[in-house]
Amino acid sequence: MDCSLRSLDGPWGGSYHRPAVANSPRVRFAPSPTGYLHVGGARTAIFNLLYARHHGGTFVLRVEDTDVERSRQHHAEQIVQSLQWLGVEWDEGPVFQSDRLDLYRRRANQLVEEGKAYRCVCTLEQLEAERAEAERGGRQYRYSGRCRASREEVSPSTPHVIRFQVRSGPIRFHDHVRGDVEFDGELIDDFVLLRSDGNPTYHLSVVVDDVDMGITLVARGDDHLSNTPKHVLLFEAFGAPAPEFAHVPLILGADRKRLSKRTGATSVEEYQSLGVLPEALFNFLLLLGWSPPAGREILTRKEAESTFELSDVHRSAAVFDVEKLLWLNHQYIQSRPAEELVPKLLPFLGENEGDREALPEIVRMLQPRARTLREMADQARPFVTSGDIGYEPEAVQKHIRGTELLPRMEALRAALTSAPAFDATATEAAVRKLAEESGVSAAKYIHPLRVGLTGRTASPSIFEVLAAMGKEKSLSRLDRLIEQIPLLAGSPD
Ligand code: GLU
Repeated sequence: MDCSLRSLDGPWGGSYHRPAVANSPRVRFAPSPTGYLHVGGARTAIFNLLYARHHGGTFVLRVEDTDVERSRQHHAEQIVQSLQWLGVEWDEGPVFQSDRLDLYRRRANQLVEEGKAYRCVCTLEQLEAERAEAERGGRQYRYSGRCRASREEVSPSTPHVIRFQVRSGPIRFHDHVRGDVEFDGELIDDFVLLRSDGNPTYHLSVVVDDVDMGITLVARGDDHLSNTPKHVLLFEAFGAPAPEFAHVPLILGADRKRLSKRTGATSVEEYQSLGVLPEALFNFLLLLGWSPPAGREILTRKEAESTFELSDVHRSAAVFDVEKLLWLNHQYIQSRPAEELVPKLLPFLGENEGDREALPEIVRMLQPRARTLREMADQARPFVTSGDIGYEPEAVQKHIRGTELLPRMEALRAALTSAPAFDATATEAAVRKLAEESGVSAAKYIHPLRVGLTGRTASPSIFEVLAAMGKEKSLSRLDRLIEQIPLLAGSPD
């Protein structure tokens, strides 16, 4: 882990500095660093952020890295970077649960002392045997509660776990998305709080932190819904008011199954490297499961902050439509000043960025055509490449043919050389005049010229291309085409 990450606001090892602002909501985003930032997680983070901003609250970033086997430092770093890139700014943190293990142990022991939890010495073999017996009898496995009943004195050196003593009776909570929810306590096992290696389970650390950090609302994926009754019981046991809850539905892929790699990219990082703008991805994720008032699709951050409500989040799962994301990204690309896009485009151009001064003009020309920065970089390649460019075989086959082509391109060169200026208007006038005088359509000049300048069959208007490429580069590319025609244009017109 980059130390700077931990020292951002730390140290957070002990108890939390809960601020004294009364009645101000506090929410958190609590990723487990077992992989990259999934778009579903990013959406949860956005919902939390907007809720906090709308209600003048505080947004905490908490890294849930107690599962040392599966947590990786570089994942935590990557998640933090993706959130920063996306513009999800947290107010406190990142807090690392791995810095707070003592606190979780103290809280588990406190519950034992208060008679709300107990030490369990059942071995894995015993538990396995119980499980196998339940299976043989066709019953669903439940812990027998042997150690709950015996309450043996357990010496610290005896391997044991700490289990929570689940009470009977209904467990109720209100959910902003799902309404009133009720679970039957009878169906919940005495779950483990502290493992035999002294590490907390997710249930313990999440509730200890939510209490300690004064979290007033927990918004998370609805895959956690079945954990929530356990958490409600733990809040009760700690004598803390339970926060409000909002369980947001899953995101589905185009195949209507849980979004997965099978149907496309799932990480924020992948969309960043495709050249999606962070504002566009933010806007797109926001619309997954929430509809802005008046059906508007493109919202500024301010508008999102002032209109977003968790209670308006849909109950049904949202479908991740990549085409819509690309459409939205295109809208954002078109609406930005070219000067703002240039620095964002540079990483996509790599070494090959050409003349920086010329880039704003090139970007302006490509804005209407590119759905992503990666597409824009690809379309910009003929303009920024300094040496020769290759011709696409399809372009050669279609447009570089016939015995007339060579004299035609020579005449075109002469006309362009003597054009009074090298802007789109003057070059267009020169080409049209030449076509008229020679009695062939302008297309006979324009298509081969496009191949010569860009190597491709498609580009922005050829006159814009000439202007953006400039006189020197355009003419030298045309010279190279003229040189190559005898080799390429085999068959007659
Ligand atoms: N760490 C959990 C996860 O990544 C989230 C826990 C929570 O929000 O309560 O799924």
